[in-house]
Formats: sequence, C-alpha cells, structure tokens
Amino acid sequence: MNAFNPARFRAQFPALNDAGVYLDSAATALKPQPVIDASQQIYSLSAGNVHRSQYQAAQQLTSRYEAARSAVARLIHAASDREIVWTRGATESINLVAQCYARPRLQPGDEILVSEAEHHANMVPWLMVAQQTGARVVKLPVTAVGLPDIDQLSALLTPRTRILALGQMSNVTGGRPDLARAIGYAHAAGAVVVVDGAQGIVHCPPDVHELNIDFYAFSGHKLYGPTGIGVLYGREELLEAMPPWLGGGKMVEKVSFDGFTPQPIPHRFEAGTPNIAGVTGLSAALAWLSETDMAEAERYCQGLATLAEEALARRPGFRSFRLQDSSLLAFDFAGIHHADMVTLLAQSGIALRAGQHCAQPLLAALGVNGTLRASFAPYNTREDVDKLIDAVDRALEILGD
Ligand code: PMP
Repeated sequence: MNAFNPARFRAQFPALNDAGVYLDSAATALKPQPVIDASQQIYSLSAGNVHRSQYQAAQQLTSRYEAARSAVARLIHAASDREIVWTRGATESINLVAQCYARPRLQPGDEILVSEAEHHANMVPWLMVAQQTGARVVKLPVTAVGLPDIDQLSALLTPRTRILALGQMSNVTGGRPDLARAIGYAHAAGAVVVVDGAQGIVHCPPDVHELNIDFYAFSGHKLYGPTGIGVLYGREELLEAMPPWLGGGKMVEKVSFDGFTPQPIPHRFEAGTPNIAGVTGLSAALAWLSETDMAEAERYCQGLATLAEEALARRPGFRSFRLQDSSLLAFDFAGIHHADMVTLLAQSGIALRAGQHCAQPLLAALGVNGTLRASFAPYNTREDVDKLIDAVDRALEILGD
C-alpha cells in the first residue's frame, strides 16, 4: 500500500479537468482512470454474458464477475461470497430487504424502528412495507445536533420491534452513530439490523462480521466505482430464508407450468443479465483503493473540511451542521436561501449540492428547510477550499443586505 499523495491521487481523475471545483462527492464520486478503463474494456475487449455460456471468453468474464464478488466480501469481512448480492445500488438493496425479508414476516402491529437521520432510501422502503403489512414505523429520534440518539434505543425497542434501520454515516451531517452499541441493543431485543452504508463505506468499510450486522447496503458510485451497481450484504441464514424478488433468467434452477425452484443464494436475487461493466468497474475501484492508504486520505479530507468550516465561520450568519470532524460540511447563512447561494456558487464554478439531501425528516428535526453541502474527497485541494471561500464571499456581497 502506498502512502497517500494528494497530487498523485488527483492526477488519476480526468473529470477534474472539466469539473471546476468539485465538492459534491457525497452525491457521487468522480471516477479514476483505472475504473474508467476497466468498465470500457468490458465493451471493447470482452465477449459474452456471465453464467450462461461455455466458450472461453464468457467463462473468463464469469470468473472476473465472481472474483469481484469475493473482493467485496473481503472488503467488508463477509463470511462467504454467498452473502454478497449485486443490486443497482443502496436504494435497491434496502428495498430488497424490505420486500423479501420484512414483507413476508411482518404482522399488523409489528414495529420497524428507523432513525430520524436516515436518507429517504432507508426510510421510504420501510414506510412502504409498513403500508403493505400493517406494521408501524417508529422513530428513533436524533439528538439536538442530528445524531441518532442511541441512548433512547433500549426504551424504544419493544417485543414487537422486528427491524432497526440505521445509517452508518449521515450524508448530511457526516454523523456516525455507535453502530456496535445500537446493534447490541437491537439484537438483545430480537430485532434484525439493516445498516445503510452508502455514505459510511467511503469513509470506513465496516467489518460486518465483528459488528454483527445483519444486512448492509451500499452503492458503487460513491466509492469511485460506476453508477448502477450496488451491493446487499446479508447474513447467510437470513438470505437463505428469503424468497426471490425479481423473477427471470438465471435466478431459477427448474421452471415448469407448475412452478419454479429458485437458485441458491446469492443468484436467487439476481434475475436477468446483470450489470457486468458495473461489477467489473467496482472491482477495479476496490483494487485501486487498496493501493492507497485511505485512512490517511480520509484524514486529509477531514482537514480540508475543517479549513473550510473555520474560514466560513468568520462570515456573519454562518452555521455548520458538521459532526464528528467529517469530510462533509453542511452549512447555511442566516437569512440567505440555500437555493440562491448555490446558484451563485455554480456561476463561480463551484459544484456542490443544496437542498434537503434526501433527508427531509432530519432537516425538519434540525429546524432547517435546506442546507448547502460541500463534500470533500481526497482529490480536492486547499485551492479548492480557497475558491469556495472566495465564491461564498462574492455570493454574500450580492445576497447580503
Ligand atoms: N443512503 C445514503 C446515506 C446516501 O447518501 C445515499 C445516496 N445519496 C443513498 C442511501 C442512496 O444511494 P443510491 O442513490 O446510490 O442508491
């Protein structure tokens, strides 16, 4: 593994030549050249589909495709490749758990405990399955600063709680709840824990085995991989007990007009031709990431966010929603609408996001109708921070009274 070198890291991202100051990596990360190459090569150099054909090219592709599954299993310390299901992203992964694990099991009056800090992807699937089954979604409130309040968890877990849905890291505040503690309480109460890792995996891939996570969902695109590919980790015995969701080719062993016999896991959940270029690109991203000291890279990003936060804090009306020294900096200015500010920042070539970040209940709890969010990645620089501050100053001149 190489020491983290910001200039060398940055040089691998061709999109930075056009992207101006890209501070929107929490929406999606840019792609390094090895990921672009690997995805393109699937179309330019390989032939065939996976898990279907006997000729050599298709067999090789199948081996690469399954090797990528093993790489994901190693990344998060899954006990076996069978515990890794390919999906389109974190959203699909959580919906899969809601529809295939929760829906057949939930009874009217059962409870699904969902933290108030969740992204809509870890909230709406639970509201949907609650509607379908008569179960109830119960709120695990956030603290005053927006972190899921684990202290309240044991009081909220009841004999009816079947599921706890919790994010590893907020895509707004960057807050990380104490997962180990939360999982301990939930398991003691007999609930299964679904962890949304879409934001967290970028900053710290978990050891799902050590943490005893039941289901873990993430997307490739935030981890420098392609869009349209994601992962659901599920403990083997839980996946084994789940029916398939989508029906079609390659998820069945036998089909007749009398019915069908699903494949063993994980293929039971992977109907149809999969996103082969996405899987291969994600695998290239993981190989590429393993060459760099990402813990050091993470500290570097946190340092940039701190610099930006400290500089912005000297501007009147600034308010930060950043937690735990994260590399995400959600902020606003009193009396200035986030949509006005982000429009002016965009005109200055600063790419960042403003709004509710698909976390409306969290923003409501924080008492704001939207924030700006600068999210720093290891390809960002101190110059990016300076340009952000200059652009904010210009915007404040126009928007301030
Ligand atoms: N959870 C969190 C915390 C996220 O930040 C996101 C993406 N913004 C998602 C879930 C959903 O991920 P995707 O859109 O890739 O499915």
